[in-house]
Amino acid sequence: VDNNTSNFIRNIVIDDLKTGKRDHVITRFPPEPNGYLHIGHAKSIVLNFDLADEFNGKTNLRFDDTNPVKEDIEFVNAIKEDVKWLGYDWDGLFFASDYFDVMYDRAVLLIKKGLAYVDDLSPDEIREYRGTLTQPGKDSPYRTRTIEENLELFENMRDGKYGNGEKVLRAKIDMASPNINLRDPVIYRISHATHHNTGDKWCIYPMYAFAHPLEDAIEGVTHSICTIEFEDQRPFYNWVVENCEMESTPQQIEFGRINLTNTVMSKRKLKQLVEEGYVDGWDDPRMPTISGLRRKGYTPEAIRTFCRELGVAKNNGTVDTQMLEHFVREDLKLKAPRTMGVINPLKVVITNYPEDQVEMLDAEINPENPEMGIRQIPFSREIYIEQDDFMEDPPKKYFRLFPGNEVRLKHAYFIKCEDVIKDDNGNVVELHCTYDPETKSGTGFTGRKVKGTIHWVDAKNAIPAEFRLYEPLILDEEIEEEEGKTFLDHVNPNSLEIVKGFVEPNMKDVKPHDKFQFFRHGYFNVDPKHTSEGNIVFNRIVSLKSSFKL
Ligand code: ATP
Ligand code: MG
Ligand code: MG
Repeated sequence: VDNNTSNFIRNIVIDDLKTGKRDHVITRFPPEPNGYLHIGHAKSIVLNFDLADEFNGKTNLRFDDTNPVKEDIEFVNAIKEDVKWLGYDWDGLFFASDYFDVMYDRAVLLIKKGLAYVDDLSPDEIREYRGTLTQPGKDSPYRTRTIEENLELFENMRDGKYGNGEKVLRAKIDMASPNINLRDPVIYRISHATHHNTGDKWCIYPMYAFAHPLEDAIEGVTHSICTIEFEDQRPFYNWVVENCEMESTPQQIEFGRINLTNTVMSKRKLKQLVEEGYVDGWDDPRMPTISGLRRKGYTPEAIRTFCRELGVAKNNGTVDTQMLEHFVREDLKLKAPRTMGVINPLKVVITNYPEDQVEMLDAEINPENPEMGIRQIPFSREIYIEQDDFMEDPPKKYFRLFPGNEVRLKHAYFIKCEDVIKDDNGNVVELHCTYDPETKSGTGFTGRKVKGTIHWVDAKNAIPAEFRLYEPLILDEEIEEEEGKTFLDHVNPNSLEIVKGFVEPNMKDVKPHDKFQFFRHGYFNVDPKHTSEGNIVFNRIVSLKSSFKL
């Protein structure tokens, strides 16, 4: 995919610079601080910052905090951290609430121009008067208030003389407009609520559709990129910029939202998963949040590449999660050291190996990136292998260990299964094997071949570790709306499996966020939350197998 040609917004920018419509580029990323950022936001971040970077422009991080009740400083800090972690530096850091004075003044200007009025209709009445797609709306009886009266009432609103919902300020445009958004939209409402930034200074707050174009214009944003549901708002966006006599005229451009298969994306739903305990926080590795992906082990590079390769579409679209996984595998392929870990251990005694001997074996750290050198792993008489790598009664074409069969231990020797030890219940608890010293890895042994290669760790020296294996949070690729059901009915009850196993002794000093490829098991990240002295927790980022084709 050539993401340059599939990014129509980039083409608009190029055109604007070529025709002289613009001589510079300023974009912004405007999250509402009412939740943590998710992969959909990453798409918008990459789009906005990359565009400005390419044309020597600027990108602001602006907190769209015009709604006092849902917003929180915790979210502000988390959003900043996530944007930085994705690899971007904003030029200006702004809060929309810092513009409340300007917004108020512009609303007064509209009143003075006869373009806004205070309305006493209730929210229900306003909805009713608005009409429908096929029916024009009708004028509020308060629409004809004089400018003087409106100025006084709006001031009273600001001064806290009315209760929530008693009055609103509306733009005076056209109640018969075919675009419902132009039927006198509400631009200010009363809300006696404490705001995280402005405290109790205000009890009236601008509506998003009024505030957003002003924010863009105040900052001199040239290209204001938003998602497609705002397309119908564009005429009002332009109306606000023009009638509020803003010097700078930003252009709103819409693109399609991305969703991922087998997850939910809206902050409201993600919040519900957190608050109702389906996950252990916004940064749970099963969440499609930036912080969840980071904790799982995703790299900023992988996420950026994913977002770029997606291109930019006009319509909302659902992307296969496997595409995201593809890019993290690609990114880690050359970076992540290889190692061996046994997730479900089964003890193997190598009966013909000397009792007290330990030998160190050489193993490549990354065969795809030989510069990473070699590591040493101990081998001795007792090892652990994966329970799955042994079957007492194997089906045809099972090439791993079974009684009488010989396999290669990765980086070590051929071993042959001689005896199966069981407990009183008939469970296999130990295998007795013999090894052939002639078959040591790296010696060029060609005497005979085996079909299976399995991994292992030395039992005496291995370090215990916890593996967290993840399945999709949502069972369905996309949730169909069903009567009487919510997305919570589609949550996968088995999305997390915790297993205790062993890893190579050279893993003893790993640090949070160190990433490895465990032979045959996939890529893993050292979990920053649950890892502690003596308890290493590995999150599986992604398995090795993929059917995904770009
Ligand atoms: P949500 O549904 O998660 O609440 P939102 O649009 O309300 O999304 P904002 O905080 O307003 O969340 O989003 C900040 C920016 O990120 C907006 O410009 C929005 O267009 C963009 N954005 C949010 N979700 C997606 C998505 N799924 N795909 C692409 N862009 C997105
Ligand atoms: Mg929004
Ligand atoms: Mg939202």
